[in-house]
Amino acid sequence: MVCERCGKTEVIRLQQGGLCSSCFQRYFERKVYSTIRKHGLFTKHDRLCVACSGGKDSVAALHLVNKLAKKRRQDVFALSVDEGIDGYRDRQIDDMRSFCDANGIGYAVVSFREEYGHDIGELMEIARNKGMQTSRCALCGVLRRSILNRHAKRLGATRIIAGHNMDDEAQTVLMNLFKGGIELAARMGPSTGAVRHSGFVPRVKPLYYCLEKETEAYAKLMGFRVLYDRCPYRESSYRAYVAGKLDEIEDEHAGTKASIISNLMKILPLLKSHYSVGSIPECSSCGEPSKNPVCLTCRTLRDMGIRNAD
Ligand code: SF4
Ligand code: ZN
Repeated sequence: MVCERCGKTEVIRLQQGGLCSSCFQRYFERKVYSTIRKHGLFTKHDRLCVACSGGKDSVAALHLVNKLAKKRRQDVFALSVDEGIDGYRDRQIDDMRSFCDANGIGYAVVSFREEYGHDIGELMEIARNKGMQTSRCALCGVLRRSILNRHAKRLGATRIIAGHNMDDEAQTVLMNLFKGGIELAARMGPSTGAVRHSGFVPRVKPLYYCLEKETEAYAKLMGFRVLYDRCPYRESSYRAYVAGKLDEIEDEHAGTKASIISNLMKILPLLKSHYSVGSIPECSSCGEPSKNPVCLTCRTLRDMGIRNAD
């Protein structure tokens, strides 16, 4: 098979045809930069914090955002959260450190153990012993989002760049429809959040229109040293279940994921205006913005007996 643009050997097959390595690289980078421009994800005056798991998506986002930031002489740094998943996150953090060193990018790591006194395995054990109805990924997600926002803010960031791709977003749309509640979709889109508060660092997603297979192909093409394995706990999650079903549908009906996202984008302005909250107060325990008197993180930690919250 040959590239539909230049006739060289194809390296990836997309819905619209096959592309060779240099045409694909150009196509991918243009798509990311046009997402940043079209949705105004950040300006040259922002101090950018790239939230990095160390996987292919976050490293691709960091590479492209850093390239743009260098041209504009803009501040960018990477931040990882170490949940304490041995043999997985520690390896990704090593890769991240090498990548940031090689590219002169500032890098900070904050761990669950430093923040909460325990790693995710111990926290899950405590939650189970307390009879809490939570899954490992739900607990991990709440605690990680809280660390990211607080530490991005502490380090002076005005935007958090997330490496979420189109597959992640399409899965989240379905998960919200099936379980979470449609109002949660109001927080979605390339620029997240249904609430503005000076305590929230806005999170933006430059890979919003990139399929996972595209970011994987890009990371391989660029030779990024990243772990392509998944977190060992992901397989048992509801997200993995939905992702598997969605992949099956995409295999039979190419373009399904893109169609979910394009339909979401059509109704997103309505969802945002319907469900957005003008202003919200601060959590009485930690001072972070929260719709409830005590934020979800503090309530979770209180239920586990790790933090008092009044
Ligand atoms: Fe945490 Fe689940 Fe993600 Fe693993 S898959 S890092 S446990 S949220
Ligand atoms: Zn709180």
